[in-house]
Amino acid sequence: MSVFVPARHPTVPVRVGHVIVGGGAPVVVQSMTNTDTADAAATAAQVRALAEAGSELVRITVNTDAAAAAVPRIREALDAAGCDVPLVGDFHFNGHKLLQAHPACAEALAKYRINPGNVGKGRRKDEQFARMIEIACEHDRPVRIGVNWGSLDQALLARMMDENAKRPEPKEPTALMHEAVVTSALESAARAEELGLPHDHIILSCKMSGVQDLIAVYRDLAARCDWPLHLGLTEAGMGVKGIVASTAALSVLLEEGIGDTIRISLTPEPGGDRTLEVQVAQEILQSMGLRAFTPNVVSCPGCGRTSSTYFQELARDIQAFLREQMPIWRRRYPGVENLSVAVMGCVVNGPGESKHADIGISLPGTGEVPVAPVYEDGEKTVTLKGERIAEEFQAIVLAYIERRFGQGDTAGEQKM
Ligand code: SF4
Repeated sequence: MSVFVPARHPTVPVRVGHVIVGGGAPVVVQSMTNTDTADAAATAAQVRALAEAGSELVRITVNTDAAAAAVPRIREALDAAGCDVPLVGDFHFNGHKLLQAHPACAEALAKYRINPGNVGKGRRKDEQFARMIEIACEHDRPVRIGVNWGSLDQALLARMMDENAKRPEPKEPTALMHEAVVTSALESAARAEELGLPHDHIILSCKMSGVQDLIAVYRDLAARCDWPLHLGLTEAGMGVKGIVASTAALSVLLEEGIGDTIRISLTPEPGGDRTLEVQVAQEILQSMGLRAFTPNVVSCPGCGRTSSTYFQELARDIQAFLREQMPIWRRRYPGVENLSVAVMGCVVNGPGESKHADIGISLPGTGEVPVAPVYEDGEKTVTLKGERIAEEFQAIVLAYIERRFGQGDTAGEQKM
């Protein structure tokens, strides 16, 4: 699969641990845990699961002394397990106190997220914000100024409403809200710089829960600064709704070159798999051709020509197999993420789509001869039949991957 590189909104590169965000680097996938951070073992386990799924940064809540005290232990557990994913600390209300009281926590984190709407009120707000920035400077850590419209700085909003009321043509409430969110981010970032935080230690986000609101705010933000932008539709919702809303919003912005790191804020099903948000983030970037993470499975929707669920099961199993193997294959088979596999339901489009994929199978539709031709690099190599088509096709895919992407395979290297 070729990787498409749209003209990107120019941003300064910010180093978060060993990960570069912005400056033209590939768009970074990140996620957030939902365990109690004070439970170091559970949090380290979930961070590992998210990292293994492909999350390149993982954010954890740091909301209490117990949580802050657990952060260095979480880092140690991850390092001991060979997981080097940088941790980001999410701070609200008491972040200044926690960072000050727990220097080991401040050191173990690769980045701090500060919400300017939740750092305090009045004069204390400025003092507390300043203290967090000073600690970031002391530890040489970048900061994400993370505005969320649900917790917008109310003093700033009141000031802007007063100013707006005095204008000859006041802005509409929605436009004023957008302006307030962007202003909160830009003024906070400028203040952080005045306090000594280097320009290339700042990332901005302005999360909104409405798709059109998010697009409008980020377009404005991108036009007004060169800080890397963290994209995400906040409170996106559950399941299909959350996935579609996030995809709709982020796709428009990414296509315009806006966004240096993304997080998908899905509400999980009770007991659901937290790594789904990583999978969705990767699928957005991969579907747009911006990055490749996992071999691409092309499968037809099926129709009246496929009266059994056999081909649906094969498409599902192959997709799951490829994704499950990726943590190992990423190291063993460099470039395998660019592989394309076609699983098609009948001869109408099956052979054609299979020929265009690196490897493809065209299953027999209703009334067709019960055989399944397999294509590799556009050529028919074998025809499968009988009860074990799924297992045999999986073995063929594995052999193809080993041949083409196995280390030291010069033919595979030439093909890439
Ligand atoms: S490839 Fe065949 S089974 Fe699949 S949607 Fe097209 S006609 Fe239907």
